Amino acid sequence: MKRNWEALVLKAMGGRDFRLTVRSTESIGGHYQRLVLDDGGLLAACKVHPTMWIRLWFDDAGRPHQRAYTLVDPDPAAGRFTLEFALHDGCAARWASAAQVGDTIVATMQGSAFTLPDPAPGHLYLVGDAASLPAVNSLLDAAADLPATVWLEYAHDGERALALRARDHQRVTWVPRGDDGQQLLDTVRAELPAAPDAHYWVAGEAASTRALTRHVRRTLGMGRQQLTSLGYWSAR
Ligand SMILES: Cc1cc2nc3c(=O)[nH]c(=O)nc-3n(C[C@H](O)[C@H](O)[C@H](O)COP(=O)(O)OP(=O)(O)OC[C@H]3O[C@@H](n4cnc5c(N)ncnc54)[C@H](O)[C@@H]3O)c2cc1C
Repeated sequence: MKRNWEALVLKAMGGRDFRLTVRSTESIGGHYQRLVLDDGGLLAACKVHPTMWIRLWFDDAGRPHQRAYTLVDPDPAAGRFTLEFALHDGCAARWASAAQVGDTIVATMQGSAFTLPDPAPGHLYLVGDAASLPAVNSLLDAAADLPATVWLEYAHDGERALALRARDHQRVTWVPRGDDGQQLLDTVRAELPAAPDAHYWVAGEAASTRALTRHVRRTLGMGRQQLTSLGYWSAR
């Protein structure tokens, strides 16, 4: 596949490419595809952190199509990690559904960086959906002892099939995707408290993420350092 200007810019910014190989593939609840991949040296070259993501290069009718995916259970010793694809009508999702053992794909590592605040926050407030559930799980693993409150938006019942890694002292609320995301906004705005020692993490549909970012910063008055937010996909 030909690469485009985006690949050149990423390379100029220090992006490194790795060729991944599919080792197994499994459907989860009909709405996710879980792939285990050999990492092509990625984990030996890049430090693992919660919510770590890579840029995968798909072939869209001969054109390069780059989309981000989150590493699940990265294992540097084995040189393997898992990817969990939420399924919808998109090029990346279609590739994951059709992937066979032995298929390869190029990944660029550039832009992923996250560390839990130090000292640890008094509470984690996480807002996500099927696309960011792997990242939410990596945060729950990294902060297993912390109190956490999680809101997850789902568009289909099958999206709740991916096991959530919340512990008994962490609270999870699933919110159906209604009114183009308005239901999630209403629920979270009504329940999310202002807590000066908390960290807020928001990743979901782009417009919803922007609206909740404004809510945390302007309405709740939380500082920039207290919030991590990133749109994971755009409703079109
Ligand atoms: C840092 C980061 C990490 C991510 N990690 C993951 C991950 O681990 N697992 C995962 O599944 N996704 C993840 N995503 C989201 C994923 O990159 C997007 O969903 C991406 O748009 C999928 O590309 P596509 O080619 O399938 O669809 P696109 O070509 O981008 O879109 C095609 C159509 O599908 C719709 N669409 C795209 N994504 C979704 C969605 N999630 N739900 C419903 N409709 C959608 C679009 O609105 C459009 O109509 C991550 C995104 C970011 C930024």
